[in-house]
This record gives sequence, C-alpha cells and structure tokens, in this order.
Amino acid sequence: MKLTPTSDIWMDGKFVPWDEAQVHVLTPSLHYGWGVYEGIRAYPTARGTAVFRLRDHLRRLHDSARVYLMDPGYSVDELTEASVELLRRTGLGAGYLRPLVYLEYGTMGVAPRLDSARVAIAAWPWGSYLGEKAEQEGCRLAVSSWQRNGVHSVPPLAKATGAYVNSALAKVAAVRAGYDDALMLTPGGHVAEASAANVFAVRNGVLLTPPVSDNILPGITRDTVITLARDLGHEVREQSLTRSELYVADEAFLTGTAAEIVPIASVDDRSVGGEGCGPVTRQLREAFQDVVHGRTVGRDDWLTHV
Ligand code: PMP
Repeated sequence: MKLTPTSDIWMDGKFVPWDEAQVHVLTPSLHYGWGVYEGIRAYPTARGTAVFRLRDHLRRLHDSARVYLMDPGYSVDELTEASVELLRRTGLGAGYLRPLVYLEYGTMGVAPRLDSARVAIAAWPWGSYLGEKAEQEGCRLAVSSWQRNGVHSVPPLAKATGAYVNSALAKVAAVRAGYDDALMLTPGGHVAEASAANVFAVRNGVLLTPPVSDNILPGITRDTVITLARDLGHEVREQSLTRSELYVADEAFLTGTAAEIVPIASVDDRSVGGEGCGPVTRQLREAFQDVVHGRTVGRDDWLTHV
C-alpha cells in the first residue's frame, strides 16, 4: 500500500515536517530490528475524530518496550497527548497512527546500547488493508511453511520491528502463491494467526480463538471482538485450533487494527462456511463498526476524542 504523506511527524517531543523526519542509516534498529511499534486507527464519529483504544495500544507499546529492555522516555499519558495533537495538526479525520520506539545512532554491535531509545509517531490515511474484494467476499488464506515466531525465539506478544520478518516471509510467500494472506502455525501444529491479524472460527454458534500461549500477538481487536461477542450473548472460548478445525468451521474471520474484521473465504482452498460474510461475522462486524464510530452507548471509554 502506497503511503500518503501528511504534514508532520512527532519525533521526541517535536513536530517535524514529514520529509524531514529522518534517521541515520546506521541506527542499530535498522540493522538488528531492535525496535517496537504500534498500529492504531482513528475514525470519524458524531463528536469529531476519535482514536480507538489509544491508551490500550500505547500500554502495549510500553509492554513491548519492556520486553526489549527499552524505556520510551514518555508515559502513556504523554504519548496519548502527542497522538491527539498530531491528529489535530495533520487534520486527518480518519487514519492510521504508527508510534515507533527505536534506538539512536551511535553504537554498533548485536548488543546495542539500550539507553538511547527514541520515539516517533506518524499518522496517515489508510483504507482497507486486505482490499475491498476480500472484505466483501472473504479472504483466501494458505497455511504457511514458515512457522510463527515462538516463545523460545522471538517473543510473539511483543510487537517488535524485527519480529516482522517472520510475518513478512509468510505474507510474501502467500501473496506470490496467489492468496491474500498466510495462516501461521506453532511448531506443534496449532493455528497461531495470520501475518498481521488474529483468527476466529465459529462452530455450532461458539466462537473459538487461539490462546496467547499459541504464539499470537494478543490483539486489541481480538479483545474487542471477544468483549462484543460476549455482550451479544455468544460463547467465546480461547482454545487451541488445528488447521482442519478451520477447514470445517461454519464461519471464520480475521481481526486486526489494519484489517478490522474480514471474513475468511477459504483455507488451503477449502471453502469455509458459505459465500461472503456469515451471520455471526456480520453481526460482530456491525457491532465493531458501531463501537469505533462512537454509536455504541456505554463504550465511549474506548474512544479518545481529538
Ligand atoms: N497479530 C499480528 C502479528 C499483528 O501484527 C496484528 C496487528 N497489530 C494483530 C495480530 C492484531 O492486533 P491488533 O488487533 O491489536 O491490531
């Protein structure tokens, strides 16, 4: 997806013009992938632009930084304020926010100096992540030959820049083979997640999603969907799934900030459920769109108004 520049990027407390937001080519984060980031969406609401679960995302940014022994140097409150101010400056009515914690240039080596964390926040317009066709008709997934990063290699629950070579290897292979995305498994053969989204199956009216122990990033959209589904009276179980359980699901869908909620049309060419969006997926999608656009009474605490 092509990036559309906006006016400013927030860097270490200052607003810098988009084209001047530069980092030295010898930053260790570029060489060794030692950095952490977030992906957040802002939506139009009747009360103006609002960011969805901003504090939860920034809390996860802090958690990821902890795993990688970095102190971002700005609290969740300070980063909340910076994000809101960035949206005001860029004038974005809706879009995507990308906070990044990375290491300052100045040392080199596989044990980089960790006391030099820098923070940037960018924002830009971002449409449908998997494309309109996948959103309407469902996405086509293929199980990847690349295993999902594991707890003994690269911790899946931290959103680290370097960890995404794992997702990217799987996604690039899936797209080159003609699929929309990869479905990644754990070494034990459990379903983990897609390259940048969590997975849900619906079977006999019950929602099933892999637990955190199956090498997933604990998605904020996943948590939102679990909460909304339970509010709507659905049973939700966090339990391990095999690929065949997805083959025979009544419905299945992906969740993520960029992807939002996208039905899964097929896994390894086995069609899942019927054509397009199944009834449970559709109901959750509508509930999700209502909540992010500020139309749900009692869920305003998930929105930070700009
Ligand atoms: N898994 C991975 C690997 C991801 O990159 C993402 C996107 N952040 C997700 C799951 C979904 O997480 P969230 O709903 O918090 O965006």
